This record gives sequence, C-alpha cells and structure tokens, in this order.
Amino acid sequence: MRKHWLKMSAALLLAVTLFVIYAFQPLAIPKRARFQVDWNQVRRLARAQDALLPTQLNALLTAWNKTKECLILADGGFDDHELPTYAYQIVLPDRTIIIDPVVDHATAVALFPTAKGFPEAFTQMQTAMREAAVIALTHEHFDHAAGIPRSPYLAEITDRIVMTREQLSNSRDLDMAGFPSELRQSLAPLEYDRYHLLAPGVVLIKTGGHTPGSQMVFVQLADGREILLVGDLAWHSDNINLPLGHPRFIHWIGREDGARMADLLRFLNDLAQTQPTINQVVAHDGDQMAYYVATGLIGDRFQLKQTQVVPN
Ligand SMILES: [Zn+2]
Repeated sequence: MRKHWLKMSAALLLAVTLFVIYAFQPLAIPKRARFQVDWNQVRRLARAQDALLPTQLNALLTAWNKTKECLILADGGFDDHELPTYAYQIVLPDRTIIIDPVVDHATAVALFPTAKGFPEAFTQMQTAMREAAVIALTHEHFDHAAGIPRSPYLAEITDRIVMTREQLSNSRDLDMAGFPSELRQSLAPLEYDRYHLLAPGVVLIKTGGHTPGSQMVFVQLADGREILLVGDLAWHSDNINLPLGHPRFIHWIGREDGARMADLLRFLNDLAQTQPTINQVVAHDGDQMAYYVATGLIGDRFQLKQTQVVPN
C-alpha cells in the first residue's frame, strides 16, 4: 500500500514538474511568417491624399510598471524588468493624433500594486487629447486605453475616438480599462480589413495576436523617415531581435493568440532585416525609446497649444 502511494506521488510530482516546464517554455517561432504586409500598398495609402504628412512623433512617459525578466523573454532570469508605458502624439501641420491614451495612476495601482502613473504627464496627455483630431489605440488593454474613460474631458473628446470593431467587441478588456457600456455603445466602430488610412501619413495595420483588436500604426514622416508602432506584439525589442516570445502561460493568462504572436515575431524580425528604414517602436521598451529620443527620431514631450491646464 505504502509502495503504491509513493509511486503515485512520484508520478504526480513528475507530471506537475513537466507541466510547469511546459508552461514556462515559449511557443516555437516559425521559420517563415504567414502574416505579410504589402508595404507598397501601405506607403501608397499613406501618401494617397494630397495632404501634408506628419512632421513629428512624440512619446510621453505616462505610466510605469515592473515585472520579472523571465515573464517578458522566455529565457530571461528573475531580475526586475521595467515596463514604461508611453502615450504617442503624431503631429501633422493641421492636426494632432493621440495613439494610446495611457492609464492614470489610481487605475494602474488598483490593477497592479507595483504600477504607477505620472500625474503631470497624464494631465499633459489629457490636454493633448483635448486638442487632438483623432484618438486611437494600438490595442484595447487598460494601460493603453484607460486614459479615455478616465478623461476629465470625456464628453468633449468622444467624437474623436476611433476604435475598431474588434476593440469595441472585447468587453472583458474594456471592462478592465473602465469603459462604461454607454460609451462603448455610443462609439461607431471602425471597420477595415487589412489597412486603414487614419490621417495623411498614418496607416493602421490589423494584426490581432496580443488582443483581438491589436493593430500596428505606420507613420510616414514628411522628411521620409518611417515609424511603426507595434504596440504589445512584443514587450521588448529582444522579443523581435532574437526572436523569442514570452512563456506559454502568459499567453494563457492574457488570452492571447500565441501562435499568431509567434508568427508576428517572425514577421517583425524579417522586417527589421529586409526594411531596416522602418523604425519599429515597441510599446514598453525604455532602452529602445531612449535610443530613438537620443537620435532625434522621437520627441520626449507633447506639443500643446495651451500651456495652462484646468482639469475639472
Ligand atoms: Zn501594454
């Protein structure tokens, strides 16, 4: 009896160990990406309207969190890994666009005790949202979207929010981000197949993967430089450069389409080699952002018309 019990325990321990090893492993990155982008078409679309192209892209550090390296990169260790979160402002001669209205401090901390928001940056972002012609998201997660429902100017900005059908249909994540159902119902969903011209020089590229509503934002600057906001398809540029994803169980917890994400990492890795002039920007990579700011590709503050902000 005792022998039998020992055998059972050993088998159970082995099964649990194997399961944990399996859960911590990344999905295999395919050799060839199925996902493809017709860059000729995207560039044509970006220049389709005979209008002036964006002159500048700015990124404002608005929130921050930390986690362990091994949750970002499957071969990482147990050191802390910083996750800065940036709101983006695309500046055109006649308008501005906000991409990723980042979460406020109270919401961030309520969801993740290790997180923090930067109130001054949040206030600047809200002023920029008020002055923007369009507000859109790389994806519908709270850290990239909660600046909308938490806006003191919500009534004023509602008609400028551009969210896709996939983003608006993701009730679970929009609930987490604090979107009231009346707000969701009042927004007309953006429907597009692969590419959508958001403004001259600014093209949305549908990807899915990280969330159902994930999309990349291609920005063609007037001086010829090109930027691709990849959102959370990767959490660090190493995910793309190696390429290597995060552990399998993170896909499960986040309800990600892991196979799609692995395919997209191969696609982005290929893209970095075949089209190095497209500057890929990962949403939470502080080192990469510091490099882009130092080289002058991205500005580290928002351009505001109004300097004095009076939130209600
Ligand atoms: Zn994120």
